[in-house]
Amino acid sequence: MNQFQYARPSKPQAAIRAVAKDANAQFIAGGTNLVDLMKRGVMTPQKLVDINRLPLNKIERQNNGLRLGALALNSAVADDKLVRERQPLLVQALNAGASAQLRNMATVGGNMLQRTRCPYFYDTTMPCNKRAPGTGCGALEGINRMHAIFGFSDKCIAVHPSDMSVALVALDATVLVSGPQGDRRIPFADFHRLPGDTPQKDTNLERGELITAVDIPDAPFTRHVSYYKVRERASYAFALVSAAAALELDGNTIKAARLALGGVAHKPWRLTAAEQVLVGKPATEATFRQAAEVAMQGAKAFKYNEYKLKLAPNTLVQALKTATAA
Ligand SMILES: Cc1cc2nc3c(=O)[nH]c(=O)nc-3n(C[C@H](O)[C@H](O)[C@H](O)COP(=O)(O)OP(=O)(O)OC[C@H]3O[C@@H](n4cnc5c(N)ncnc54)[C@H](O)[C@@H]3O)c2cc1C
Repeated sequence: MNQFQYARPSKPQAAIRAVAKDANAQFIAGGTNLVDLMKRGVMTPQKLVDINRLPLNKIERQNNGLRLGALALNSAVADDKLVRERQPLLVQALNAGASAQLRNMATVGGNMLQRTRCPYFYDTTMPCNKRAPGTGCGALEGINRMHAIFGFSDKCIAVHPSDMSVALVALDATVLVSGPQGDRRIPFADFHRLPGDTPQKDTNLERGELITAVDIPDAPFTRHVSYYKVRERASYAFALVSAAAALELDGNTIKAARLALGGVAHKPWRLTAAEQVLVGKPATEATFRQAAEVAMQGAKAFKYNEYKLKLAPNTLVQALKTATAA
């Protein structure tokens, strides 16, 4: 690992200033992703600004919703009484991620900003436009079974690995950010980016911007929810495909729906057109299949990930069936 400087400020403004003024500085929270990447030489910050002393770990009621501090631990959020009562979809998504030990270190902000698990990104002997812009994409013609079927470009076909973010995009969350230019709010759906010509940029955050919290509005999705994750082992594995489904039912009729897929794109993939298909219809498998067909419009596979063209709609239908039965 390269040598680096280390600072641990206790005020958000000091942390923001430290990263804003130094192109080689980076925030560190739980460190469960960043330290791995540093050990492998994938990321080489020369200064780490440890944010764990900042007062950003509260989970509270705020403006008809829940506010999760950026430093709230994944395990603390999943165990919180308010979150369990009001946002069970988020609880399911969090508990589907990583392992208990990792969730005890991982934070809300760090989870959203974890980097892709594309093996070409991790292997510094291979080309990767995300790690080293301009070197090419090893996955395009390589082993691409974990890769995207939506929204990719010829520069990058990686997927975003976070489970929590799939639930948050479905639940219309908003990201609260503080930076050198002040505070701003970013709708969760606009937070992560598609790769386009700049796959090195995962999100729309500017240099020095610190995530301070995530707001989730109250919604009637407290019962009929499901986060359904398909992976190669039951724990400690990233999604091949995952689906978040939240339904408001009146008897067997769907009044409202929120849907998103994980493991299919460079960002958590919200399915607004498929949600519209569901509204006013009976909660049956036939309806769910119609929505899944709409959800898959525009999907395209590579040599080794064609299975996702079937797995993704089936996962979505399964999530909808599980949510209905909940
Ligand atoms: C073996 C293994 C299995 C895993 N399986 C899964 C899985 O199945 N599902 C899943 O979702 N995740 C999984 N993970 C990933 C894990 O969830 C992430 O490593 C974790 O959420 C990152 O959070 P952190 O606080 O440790 O982030 P860090 O490693 O500290 O930081 C990650 C990035 O976020 C930035 N950052 C952190 N906080 C802020 C902030 N407040 N503002 C601005 N920038 C910030 C850092 O600069 C860094 O770039 C797995 C990890 C491992 C090691």
